[in-house]
Amino acid sequence: MLEDPDIWLCTTCYQCYERCPRDVRPTDVIMELRNYATKLGNISPNHRAVVGYLKNTGHAVPINDAVRKQRVELGLEELPPTMYKFKDEKNSDLKKIEKYMFDLPPVKEEKKDKKKDEESS
Ligand code: SF4
Repeated sequence: MLEDPDIWLCTTCYQCYERCPRDVRPTDVIMELRNYATKLGNISPNHRAVVGYLKNTGHAVPINDAVRKQRVELGLEELPPTMYKFKDEKNSDLKKIEKYMFDLPPVKEEKKDKKKDEESS
């Protein structure tokens, strides 16, 4: 189950949490499964990317050129006054929180390669 990519499909909408007649709290179960899977290096590529964005920019969704342009057109500064704007400063808050970010274990490439071999044969 910890290698099942389906555990990464939950959007954490919490509808099951509210509707479950047995108070199973499936979202909590899924989050625990993801935590264990991540410790084993089985994190989905998309979630791994989000962790990288957070670590490098302080934003889960990076600000691209189109967003920068829209901001300027709306009369805003090109970058919001968040850590993203100050990410290159030596003593930025982003640098301070880096010590609290965890390093993801490496992706288990050998497992991926093995799976590809099985699928192609
Ligand atoms: S498992 Fe629950 S929280 Fe996750 S997407 Fe489905 S209904 Fe939403």
